[in-house]
Amino acid sequence: MRRTKIIATLGPATDSSEVIARMLSAGVNIFRLNMTHAKHDWVREVVTVIRDSSRETGKAVAILLDLQGPSIRTGDLDQPLELNEGATVELVTGNPQEAGEGSIYVNYAGLVDDLSVGDPVMVDNGVIQLKVVGKKDGNKLVCEVVTPGRIGSRRHINLPGVYVRLPGLTNADKKCVQLAFEVEADFVALSFAREAAHIEELRDLLKSAGSTAQVVAKIEDQEAMRNLDEIIVASDAVMVARGDLGIEVHVEELPLVQRRIVQKSIKLGRRVIVATHMLESMIENPLPTRAEVSDVANAVYEQADAVMLSGETSVGNHPVKCIEILDRITARNEVGGAGFAKHADIKSHKQKTVKAAVALADSIPGCVIAVFTKRGVMADYVANLRPESASVYAFTADEQVIRHLCLSRGVTAFLSAFSGTPESIVSEALDDLKGRKLVDSGDSVVVLSDVLGEEFAQDSIQLKRIL
Ligand code: PGA
Repeated sequence: MRRTKIIATLGPATDSSEVIARMLSAGVNIFRLNMTHAKHDWVREVVTVIRDSSRETGKAVAILLDLQGPSIRTGDLDQPLELNEGATVELVTGNPQEAGEGSIYVNYAGLVDDLSVGDPVMVDNGVIQLKVVGKKDGNKLVCEVVTPGRIGSRRHINLPGVYVRLPGLTNADKKCVQLAFEVEADFVALSFAREAAHIEELRDLLKSAGSTAQVVAKIEDQEAMRNLDEIIVASDAVMVARGDLGIEVHVEELPLVQRRIVQKSIKLGRRVIVATHMLESMIENPLPTRAEVSDVANAVYEQADAVMLSGETSVGNHPVKCIEILDRITARNEVGGAGFAKHADIKSHKQKTVKAAVALADSIPGCVIAVFTKRGVMADYVANLRPESASVYAFTADEQVIRHLCLSRGVTAFLSAFSGTPESIVSEALDDLKGRKLVDSGDSVVVLSDVLGEEFAQDSIQLKRIL
């Protein structure tokens, strides 16, 4: 069974009930709705389709709302502007009306103060590069075109290395928090999280709105890398958002940055997603490039919890095939070994118990771990230690915990009413696993729980055999 989880972004190519059902059957664990493009009404509709499909197929799937965050953008242009190499172009802040023909409005008022002559300005995912050559009238940057291109309306701007004085969340993000509550989103991701305070603000807003969504920090720039530890600790999971990161840091640094984020997340006990360009060529083609296959495998060797598809499934020609290929590459390359989990911080008594349980299960061929968990915390401790051979089955009475565990590497979660004696709850759960053909008579099971009462005290690990 595949351990690495798959996140797929939905969009115009994939918002029908038929395609969503096929993607679920192909193995999607989490559907991502990208609020940079998605309208709220579309989200409401598509969430209903996802939940219906999940019920019909019996496959648990979580929903992740990805907030746009404080992105720097160019303004509207009547028509695309051709930027030729060596030409001069003005970037205008403050009043959009002041951006005359041949100049470009930018929505970040701090642009002129924050940048110095010689600094780069990257436009449209770094495709167009400008260099600051001067300042004018207090609100204009004069730039030279270094890498030419055609620029359209509302293009994304990156300012590598610049400390951007924008709030953690915009008003549009705050409206999405209300939506997250309404549609019972399981995860909310914050783009351009630059410090722990941004994550805490989002968490507080979600809580006040009544949402129980977990929070994902998207690491996308150098400021986030400087504050990496505090951001990871403040979050439930982090995303290596390689699209923006690959512009904000020198591109040759990206594999090292990815490795560092994955390693740190596992050490600090948080889940981690590797995102963007995983199967980019499959937006057009029915097969991935060899380099893409190796890139996905690399994320698997690093033991990331999940890999994510963006344009491949939102606007691509082969969304279902992308899931099938990702399923095959990930499953085939899960070659075991504790990897970064060897250095995971073990602090609490509960974590020590979990560590002993994982070691025990891994020492018995064919042994599985059954973990009884209220909020998913104990199951996440197990997943964080990356059991080498033991499969992990979590039982919980809370349906949303099942969906939260859709992100946790190697965990498959099931519902249990948690009613009856601890003994009967465990034996029913083991019968359930047997009924699903996940275990067989004679198999060993390590049972872990922090919810079933005295005989399952925090430091108790039970070793059982399937009858
Ligand atoms: P985006 O984030 O899809 O919101 O741009 C991902 C990334 O930058 O990699």
